[in-house]
Amino acid sequence: MIITTTCIYCGVGCQLDLHVRDGKIVSVTPGKSGPGEGKLCIKGWSAHEFIHHPDRLTKPLIREASGLREATWDEALDLVASRLTETRNTHGPDAIGFFSSAKATNEENYMFQKLARAALGTNNVDHCARLCHASTVTGLVAAFGSGAMTNSQEDVEQSDVIFVIGSNTSEQHPLISRRIIKAANAGAKLIVADPREIPLCEYATAYLQHRPGTDVALLNAMMNVIITEGLNDQKFIDERTEGFEALKETVLTYTPEKASEITGVPEEKIVEAARLYGKAASASTFFSMGITQHTTGVDNVKSCANLAMLTGNIGRPGTGVNPLRGQNNVQGACDMAALPNYLPGYQNPEDPSTSAKFREVWGAELPTHKGLTLTETINQCGDAVKALVVMGENPMLSDPDLNHVEEQLKKLEFLVVSELFMSETAALADVVLPACSFAEKDGTYTATDRRVQLVRKAIEPIGDSRPDWWIIQELSRRMGYEMNYSGPSAIMDEIAAITPIYSGVSHTRLETDDLRWPCRSPDHPGTRILHQGSFSRGKGRFHALEYKPPAETPDDEYPYTLTTGRLLFHWHTGTLTRRSETLTNQVNEAYMEINPVDAEQLAIGDQDMVRVSSRRGEIGLKAMVTPRIKPGTVFIPFHFAEAAANRLTNNALDPDAKIPEYKVCAVKIEKS
Ligand code: SF4
Repeated sequence: MIITTTCIYCGVGCQLDLHVRDGKIVSVTPGKSGPGEGKLCIKGWSAHEFIHHPDRLTKPLIREASGLREATWDEALDLVASRLTETRNTHGPDAIGFFSSAKATNEENYMFQKLARAALGTNNVDHCARLCHASTVTGLVAAFGSGAMTNSQEDVEQSDVIFVIGSNTSEQHPLISRRIIKAANAGAKLIVADPREIPLCEYATAYLQHRPGTDVALLNAMMNVIITEGLNDQKFIDERTEGFEALKETVLTYTPEKASEITGVPEEKIVEAARLYGKAASASTFFSMGITQHTTGVDNVKSCANLAMLTGNIGRPGTGVNPLRGQNNVQGACDMAALPNYLPGYQNPEDPSTSAKFREVWGAELPTHKGLTLTETINQCGDAVKALVVMGENPMLSDPDLNHVEEQLKKLEFLVVSELFMSETAALADVVLPACSFAEKDGTYTATDRRVQLVRKAIEPIGDSRPDWWIIQELSRRMGYEMNYSGPSAIMDEIAAITPIYSGVSHTRLETDDLRWPCRSPDHPGTRILHQGSFSRGKGRFHALEYKPPAETPDDEYPYTLTTGRLLFHWHTGTLTRRSETLTNQVNEAYMEINPVDAEQLAIGDQDMVRVSSRRGEIGLKAMVTPRIKPGTVFIPFHFAEAAANRLTNNALDPDAKIPEYKVCAVKIEKS
């Protein structure tokens, strides 16, 4: 039997054919349709390997003095319901935090935030978008009125110029990288800006190796050249935007010479890139966490938006500002309002008609004040937050400054985690609930370009595991708030009924239709390109932004800049990919990339063991000496618990989006 479904890893949303024999997934081949165009990357080809891994959690677990013991579902769910109810009754609803999951389906995310809001009465619900693209949502909403990728993946093949900044696309979104390379081979010019010489540099006309955290200075200088040389699209600016004069005044102070000093990029490279972008008939920008994970993450995103609006590169094929969302359903988790300040579809909870609509459909009074973000929740554990419900997230490896996270989670009175495997966070829980993998349930994911796609059940749940939507429904009932969905399709029908951008989405339609939101009615075809004719907020808004240095810069004690990221072969905290033989055969240990100049000064050879420390912690790992990293900067992937990069990272936050500055902190390096 072959079941077509959607890949569990990145936000590209490739279609997979799962091959099932005797109730087991035995292999994966590429689905014929969808964004992958009949191709998969190595993660997609091995997406089935963790499903039947012997480490799968198959029974609910309850903590006792001697450790975790197996329990029945009734016992575990009754305990969770009574502890959450008790916490709410004693300390109020805001004493409970909820971490939703960008790996869970739209339907599960919808139910999870409904559980928090309607059943328990708190807006304290968030998820890992806080750690990757919170600044995208804040920045693009301020500039355009919508926080999502403006164009669709296939559009890049219509670009004359493609600007990739802060995205190692070949390793994180391989099938989008394939399209970029296809476009470059067909004649499009590629500009890459990244502190590491990433694989796409091979195809680049211009490569700008800037210092981590200097993006605003770099982008301001590109805009300086564009305005000075008259390459701006004045008609677009006059008709469709506001705030240009203030932007112009600011960027004219960022000469290429000044930006070169800040960024380390030669002046002539900045001028070359600006001319390429400014002269293009259609230029598209792609960015990811190299832009967003900074204390200036929102400013960085707004700068990308400034550059696109300055040159009229919005609302047409081959243009746009395109944040590449990391996990398979991080876009959908945001759409479903696994966020503390929105209702589903980014609806404003303070708008009286919106809140009245939700009150009526949900049959509950809703909290009106904004909830805590994920990062704020961690900081409040043991104080304002007494209990935490975690669905498929692993903050014990994914959050910055892990020693602090561990200390905080241990202060909780009650922690419940639903998971596939005994993650570092589940190991601290009072109750662990065994959840199903993507192959054991139905639902939908929303890809990075707002494309909603079906997830189809291929096999029965492993052991006593259950889909998260079932777990949430059972918990909610036990807390006196009835949820009675017959399944994920019925949940999507409710989402469509109260979420205008999803109004035309249904499981039935998704069997045949390729739908990207906004999809406002059952006969609406969906929207491939946003902001055509006008922006979601009316006029696009320029923001005049000054360069601000990162929160922690190198000094005599910690003289190197650490930047972190992902590898082609692993995904986030490695909970799934490190249980895949194909992927662990490629890479299965942490390492630190260091430039040969720095390595020589420190007498470090390739493969030597080193100790890396920051003001927050220390790890030991191997050195990889490579010229692809800029001198003065080192890179460590964050997948490996035994040498967790996040023991070192800084939890300084962007003031608006509250995203941590994973991409820059100061470290010292010693040979072990
Ligand atoms: Fe899966 Fe992303 Fe690879 Fe496609 S590109 S197969 S969605 S990990």
